[in-house]
Amino acid sequence: MKKVLIVTGGSRGIGAATARLAAESGYAVCISYLRDSAAASTVVDGIRRAGGEAVAFAADVSVEAEVVGLFEQVDAALGPVTALVNNAGILERHMRVEQMDAGRLTRVFATNVIGSFLCAREAVRRMSASHGGAGGAIVNLSSVASRLGSPDEYVDYAASKGAIDSFTLGLAKEVATDGIRVNAVRPGVIYTDIHASGGEPGRVDRVKAAVPMQRGGTAEEVARAVLWLLSDDAAYTTGALLDVAGGR
Ligand code: NDP
Repeated sequence: MKKVLIVTGGSRGIGAATARLAAESGYAVCISYLRDSAAASTVVDGIRRAGGEAVAFAADVSVEAEVVGLFEQVDAALGPVTALVNNAGILERHMRVEQMDAGRLTRVFATNVIGSFLCAREAVRRMSASHGGAGGAIVNLSSVASRLGSPDEYVDYAASKGAIDSFTLGLAKEVATDGIRVNAVRPGVIYTDIHASGGEPGRVDRVKAAVPMQRGGTAEEVARAVLWLLSDDAAYTTGALLDVAGGR
């Protein structure tokens, strides 16, 4: 059976690394992105040059109609989805709770939580054995912030990732008999652009002293854990929250 993977937010960072590794493992890959079409094209072109199959579509994961449209485009371009990585996520500038307004909280939860729900819903509708699907696997990108809290003024982000952990545990049980496995990866500090968008480009180097392994991680190191959870090697693993955090 053809393996078809959607990686949301696959134009950069952990999502791009996951898309590249998945293509090397034989997946036909769709990456979605928010606005950086040039970065998305670079990822797709690289996969194609290496002999893989890849497409990219713009879709804001927090907008229901765009998520529905994304899955319909993938149905037409690649065939039925068999795997989903809910990777798209945002980290807003660090800020104490007293300064946070509802607009910020809505943006963070809309992308990190509602986006993952909407994409998982579309995936389950297609993968579920009870709807005639062939089963599949979903991996959600959480964060160690979900269990550490976030001592450096990202309490909204930590709470959104706590919701992802609960979502993973609940959905894994709900769809276990539909042939769908649902797991989460919880990265520690990883060298990607997300820290610059959070207003702190040097954050990984600042935080790494608190990591037992004394270093930040790479996007590829996270992607390898994601690929393992998607693979048949993890056939009896569902509802797992896997830390990839250098022991933190
Ligand atoms: P990046 O900031 O490097 O990339 C984010 C990606 O998400 C981009 O492709 C971006 O698209 C896309 N995106 C953002 N908002 C939306 C949206 N509303 N709809 C669709 N796509 C969107 O992030 P990382 O690679 O660092 O993070 C990936 C995941 O890993 C996130 O969920 C993050 O919370 C989690 N994580 C990261 C850690 C880290 O230290 N880096 C640590 C723990 C967890 P575009 O390029 O078009 O803007």
